[in-house]
Parts: sequence; C-alpha cells; structure tokens
Amino acid sequence: MAIRSLKRAATSNCTPMSEANVTREIKKAAMTGITQRVATCHELTLLKLPSIAELFPFRFKDTGFELKFILFTCGSCEKPFDIANVHGTCSQVIESVIDLDLVAKCVRCDMITPFQLRISSDRYCNWKDHKGVWNQFRIYEPGRKGVTDAWHDMLGVIKKLGTPN
Ligand SMILES: [Zn+2]
Repeated sequence: MAIRSLKRAATSNCTPMSEANVTREIKKAAMTGITQRVATCHELTLLKLPSIAELFPFRFKDTGFELKFILFTCGSCEKPFDIANVHGTCSQVIESVIDLDLVAKCVRCDMITPFQLRISSDRYCNWKDHKGVWNQFRIYEPGRKGVTDAWHDMLGVIKKLGTPN
C-alpha cells in the first residue's frame, strides 16, 4: 500500500487533512487503482530515523542464517527502493527473531510505503499486509538467489492484495 506523505502533515503535528485534500486523495486513488491514505504520525516519525542500510548483511548468531539484503519496492510505482531510503527500526528482543518497522519514501511519486516484518533465524518471515493481517512465508533456499526469489514472491502477494477486484 502506498501512502501519501504530506509535508504539511509532517510539520503541523499531524493535523487531519482538509476536506479538499481528502477528496483529491480519493480521486487520485481511483485513478491509479492504488490504496492510499494519509501517513500516520508513527510512519512520519520512522521516516526521520536513519536508514537500515548498515543492517545488512544480518547474521543470526544461533543458526548462522545470513540475511544479505531485502528488496523493498514502492507500493505506488513498484520501483525498488535504494536501501538508503528505507528508514525505521530493527529490534531483536530474542536472539532468533528480528522485528523490522520501516517506511520508505519514493522520490519519484512522493509516496511512502510502510513495511512491517518479523524474520526468524529458521528462515521464516512474517509480514503485515495493508489490512493489518500477518502472513508468513519461508525463505526457501540458501544464498542470495533464494532470498531474492522469496522476497519477489512476497512482493507479488502484496501486489495482489493491493489490487482492487
Ligand atoms: Zn514510487
């Protein structure tokens, strides 16, 4: 899901959009067929945090599973994000799991896309879709190709979920 990032929302302490802007957003959403909403305060806060570029490659100490990178794509134009433009938090409450709470801003379409992921050292990835439902998939094979394929699969599912009937 792509989210309209309004500079005004960021600087006015998240004042709700005016009626005119809401209408414009709905029209734009109808035109593009993409689910859009106003970015939340939390998402705008994440956007101000450093990028997660330095996180990769991430190696789980318990199993040795190495996550070389994650491909994130814009929920609006579907172009891949430069990892330097993906911001947010990575927390590791227990050794075998990392939680990623991220947003990325697309310079092309001025939209931000949120990503909420939980990756475990046994190669399972849980991710939250735009309906707030958690989904799971397995990172199938070792090595860079396997990780890339798995993420492409996930993004394919996200695209399907994001497409109106
Ligand atoms: Zn974009």
